[in-house]
Amino acid sequence: MLDRVRWRIAVPYVVLVLVVNVGLAIFLTQQIRTAQLENLREQLLSEAQVVARDIGPILAVTDPDNADRLRVALAGQAEAWSALLDARVTIIAPNGAVIAESDQDPAQMENHLDRPEVQEALRAGQGSSIRFSDTLDAQMLYMAIPLPAAQTEAGEAQAIVRLALPLNQVEATINEMRGLVITAAFVAALATALVAIVVAERTARAIGRLTAAARRMATGDLDARLHHIAPGEIGELTVAFNEMADQLRERVTDLAAERGRLAAVLENMADGVLITDRGGLVQLINPAAARLLDVDPDESIGRSFAEVARHHKLIELWQQGCLEGGEQGGVVDLVQQGLFLQMVVTPLQQVEYLGCLIILQDLTRMRRLEVTRRDFVSNISHELRTPLASLKALVETLHDSALDDPPVARRFLARIDEEIDALTQMVQELLELSRIESGKVPLRLAPTAVAEAVLPAVERLQPQAERHELTVAVDLPGGLPPILADAGRIHQVVGNLVHNAIKFTPDGGWIKLSATLDDSEQMVVISVRDNGVGIPTAELGRIFERFYKADRARSGGGTGLGLAISRHLIQAHGGHIWAESKEGKGSSFYFSLPIAADDENSAESRSP
Ligand code: ADP
Repeated sequence: MLDRVRWRIAVPYVVLVLVVNVGLAIFLTQQIRTAQLENLREQLLSEAQVVARDIGPILAVTDPDNADRLRVALAGQAEAWSALLDARVTIIAPNGAVIAESDQDPAQMENHLDRPEVQEALRAGQGSSIRFSDTLDAQMLYMAIPLPAAQTEAGEAQAIVRLALPLNQVEATINEMRGLVITAAFVAALATALVAIVVAERTARAIGRLTAAARRMATGDLDARLHHIAPGEIGELTVAFNEMADQLRERVTDLAAERGRLAAVLENMADGVLITDRGGLVQLINPAAARLLDVDPDESIGRSFAEVARHHKLIELWQQGCLEGGEQGGVVDLVQQGLFLQMVVTPLQQVEYLGCLIILQDLTRMRRLEVTRRDFVSNISHELRTPLASLKALVETLHDSALDDPPVARRFLARIDEEIDALTQMVQELLELSRIESGKVPLRLAPTAVAEAVLPAVERLQPQAERHELTVAVDLPGGLPPILADAGRIHQVVGNLVHNAIKFTPDGGWIKLSATLDDSEQMVVISVRDNGVGIPTAELGRIFERFYKADRARSGGGTGLGLAISRHLIQAHGGHIWAESKEGKGSSFYFSLPIAADDENSAESRSP
């Protein structure tokens, strides 16, 4: 409680006032006492001199041999003067024997020669002392003088007159005075305390308001301001506090905006970002990093990087980067996860090492594209080399001898024609895909019966299927709603799927084409199934990529472009295409197309 401002201001004042006043009281009463005693001493001296003058003649005329008469006469005088002066009067012989005494029987009294006032009087002509008198049981002021008129020839005093006054009165006056001054001191101290408390209270209240505002700010209320500006230093402090609060709010707002921007960047960036602290614990992980490492971002915070990354190559790179310093980078192939990552580790160093920044870039797609591109180059070279080699062989044979045999020459020419057709088809498909991909082939969408969209392509390929002794069954349930499609483009897709089924189904197999209604999606799903060689599960996801061929050995003259073209066309229709397969058992391809709404009677154009 005493450390409160009001008390810290009031208590020193009160103590100071008390000390000063009490000190003053002691000093003053001391001074007054000294002055009063001095007065009394002087008063007693002059009274003693009067008494001495009065007693002198008695001592002079009285016969010294008649000591009793002298004693009686002096006793009478002593009593008379005592009554008059209201003081004790003692007459002492030079040998210290008390001759007469106003308040006591001199016979009972001891020798007074050793009394300090008597000694002093004999030595210096007058003597005084303050002592406690056992006789009167009080503090007394004594004043003694030798009798001047009764000097002996040797210069010795004949008697000593001593007057004594009790100091009770003086002490009482002094005590009363001291009491008054001390009371005044306490009253002054009380008044000072009250004034100090009021002043301190006002200061304390202003400080209290500042404290409350500062506490509000500490709990996050950045609008806490002080509207009452007191005069003086507290006022200046209040203004400074308000200015500080303004600046703090500005800084915090800036920081929050900065943080928000940073969070948005981290949240939405495609690259994974992690920060580990000095102890290797994850402090920050953005959604991309969590996705790439397949972890829950919230659960990863506070766990070690090794626990979160769970891959020795990633952990190794992180350790190298963090421990060896300098930026470390490397690519990591996470085979199990099917990911190919580039990892860059940068130690965060300011004055001291703070941790590590880890950036994870997903290069899977790029690598896949790279692989696809490489595959394409090798495919296309292969595809070009085979027909070109056979063309070369045919031409050479013609050149050497076959020209002389017209039937053989015609056969050779027919084969040359076929090879050129295959080459042309490949070039056309490439051009077609590039046109579709770049949106240069507009779709002429119109409500089309499913049969109309499907059957022409099947019929076109029927002879080819028959050549391979394949059964082609079409099952289109009645009552299917018309679809919104560009019939020509759907012929192309169905033709491609059926052609693949023919290619990848051994002779004697079957191909089934059917359609179903997916009511909930408002789609018609068309399927082309076969019981051919099937596609390995690992490759199923890639067969729709450009130039991708699952089974190169059996894909014959295919370019790997058919399914890529089909996917683009179906997606342009607003549908989906997908495949299911079991290696060695057969494959099923499905694609969905939207049902034509009732009011879609007129044709519509759309670019793929
Ligand atoms: P291609 O010109 O090689 O047929 P596609 O794009 O049409 O090119 O097909 C890509 C690959 O998908 C083929 O090389 C083949 O490996 C696989 N594939 C497509 N259809 C079938 C199917 N019905 N049965 C087995 N494999 C298939």
